[in-house]
Amino acid sequence: MAEQDPQTRSIRLQAERSPHKEHAVPVFVTSSFVFDDAEEMRAAFADEIERPIYSRFSNPNVREFVDRMCVLEGAESGFAMASGMAAVFGTFGALCSAGDHIVSCRAVFGATHTLFTKILPRFGITHTYVDVDDTDSWAKALRKNSRLLYVETPTNPGIDVVDLAWLGEFARAHELILVVDNCLATPVISRPIGYGADLSLHSGTKYIDGQGRVVGGVVVGKRKLIDDIYWFCRNTGPALSPFNAWLLSRSLETLELRMERHSENALELARRLEARADVEDVMYPLLPSHPRYEIAKQQMRWGGGILAFKAAGGIEQGRRFLDRLRMCSLTANLGDTRTIATHPASTTHARMSEEERLAVGITPGLVRISVGLESAADIVADIEQALDRSK
Ligand SMILES: *Cc1c(COP(=O)(O)O)cnc(C)c1O
Repeated sequence: MAEQDPQTRSIRLQAERSPHKEHAVPVFVTSSFVFDDAEEMRAAFADEIERPIYSRFSNPNVREFVDRMCVLEGAESGFAMASGMAAVFGTFGALCSAGDHIVSCRAVFGATHTLFTKILPRFGITHTYVDVDDTDSWAKALRKNSRLLYVETPTNPGIDVVDLAWLGEFARAHELILVVDNCLATPVISRPIGYGADLSLHSGTKYIDGQGRVVGGVVVGKRKLIDDIYWFCRNTGPALSPFNAWLLSRSLETLELRMERHSENALELARRLEARADVEDVMYPLLPSHPRYEIAKQQMRWGGGILAFKAAGGIEQGRRFLDRLRMCSLTANLGDTRTIATHPASTTHARMSEEERLAVGITPGLVRISVGLESAADIVADIEQALDRSK
């Protein structure tokens, strides 16, 4: 029989059942697991047999979630954490030491920016930001002590697209570890490991849960690197709870369906916004007007659920638009079933200087929409009425 599709394998892959043989896997709410005898306990601690020991680093629900993520991403191994930021910090903490240098795309998630600029320097780890559209700048940013390349694609909220095939080659040529935050695309839209990324990491809070319920994170990729991340996290403790792992694992069963619908709705909204005179730029990877449309078409199966646009008129116009929405939620999350609108300049990115914001594409009137699973017609209608009434 031909090898099954990753979606099929991920859905059918399941943690061990209890003696009741339930169809849906139970939640293993336990801090530790018992051994039959001293020899079994010794062998488990020596890593000679694979079985759960203690839920800080081994739990069947967490294992199932990680195994499913590995199938979807085409990865050898993985580790799940309590949040996306725990996955980001666990990766840097495990793989970088004092004196190491990271080259990263300039537009990164807000807390990741704080890690680079305020927290990692306290441990002697430095970084250089580069612009993803300027490939020369990557080579210029390299130093003798550069160890790791870090990118998000598409970026948030500027919706820039990084050329993963190019970056994979670049990382190999310079023997650097390439880490991709694949949170916005998810593995059903883009699989960075196939382009030469060593690790792909996620905030499980976003599309992986996809229903605005739990916070979680995961990193998957090369076994050798994951072993180091496992050791770091086993000893520092950012464990994912069994219940959250159980939810995230169930959510993966519908990830492909959800991403297809998110992407269809977002493309429809992007086209409608682009046709309006009171909207300046619409940023969406699969609009032909996107500066990296050709790359996006190659490396993304669909366009994803996030788009951004510039309301003509600046900061006040952006805020007025949010106040006129009747259906869309105003909330900090993204990747929910419900459509969410945010105004980055006055909220998530308010602590940056205006100059820093502009460098990552956040103009005063920029609005980010996380397009949900409501009917496209209703999403478009709410956003159009809000634009009409905010002039
Ligand atoms: C939300 C997010 C994170 C952080 O994830 P948490 O689960 O909130 O800790 C990291 N990267 C990206 C791109 C995100 O959107």
